[in-house]
Amino acid sequence: METIEGVVTDSFEEVPDVRIVRIKPARWLEFKPGQYFLILIPGGESVKPYSVSSPPLNREYLEFCVKRVGGGRASNFMFHTGKGDRLTMRGPMGRFVLQDKIENDIIFAATGTGISAIKPMIQAVFERGTGEQIWLFFGVRTERDIIYRKEFDAIASKNRNFHFIPCLSRPSGSWSGERGYVQGAIKKLVEDARNKDVYICGLAAMVEQMKVIAEQLGFSKDRIHFEKYV
Ligand SMILES: Cc1cc2nc3c(=O)[nH]c(=O)nc-3n(C[C@H](O)[C@H](O)[C@H](O)COP(=O)(O)OP(=O)(O)OC[C@H]3O[C@@H](n4cnc5c(N)ncnc54)[C@H](O)[C@@H]3O)c2cc1C
Repeated sequence: METIEGVVTDSFEEVPDVRIVRIKPARWLEFKPGQYFLILIPGGESVKPYSVSSPPLNREYLEFCVKRVGGGRASNFMFHTGKGDRLTMRGPMGRFVLQDKIENDIIFAATGTGISAIKPMIQAVFERGTGEQIWLFFGVRTERDIIYRKEFDAIASKNRNFHFIPCLSRPSGSWSGERGYVQGAIKKLVEDARNKDVYICGLAAMVEQMKVIAEQLGFSKDRIHFEKYV
């Protein structure tokens, strides 16, 4: 783990209240898909973790995907960064990382900005190449909140073994995809959990519920990987 300066090369709103911030570190630091950096919040010793949402093969910048939380210092600091701003990071950190070899089907389950840690894992899976079935269950409220929709649609259009399942808790009437929470969609659509891994990322309540469901479905405990954001 190292402390390193970085400069913001891009910062834009991806979906309402979720901002993508790209930071070029002073020197490149290797990281694994799923890891995070601590961002130092100016004006104090406060630090907050943010998962890297870009794939390790992209060495131009580290991308972060941040949800603005009402009254939250760190998320609002990140949300208001602009091109050219400098900040300090510490990392990479975290044990929620993609397995080295892809030799079995994988279920990814994310809600909200929990997708940040999951996205580089999925990109790494398809950069390495696999014939296994890869599922992403992604829970957000509405169609407008689907972060990285273009990126996941692009992966799905090139790889017939990638199944992108957005699950909307407040869909419009015209939405033809899954309705409700990821927990329900996974219960409905995952028939056989044997020899599959599941990676879960999001707020604590969702992760706890998903862990219980994964065990009920028959995932073995050592194949249930998770990261809780709060
Ligand atoms: C390993 C790890 C990786 C993380 N990666 C990311 C990431 O990639 N993107 C990201 O946006 N966040 C991520 N987080 C969460 C992030 O670190 C902060 O906790 C979050 O941005 C809130 O910090 P804050 O200082 O703005 O608000 P705080 O002052 O910590 O919180 C303000 C209030 O909002 C509530 N709150 C905090 N977070 C949320 C939320 N997401 N939704 C609703 N209410 C919330 C708190 O309970 C509190 O009541 C990650 C957390 C962990 C542990």
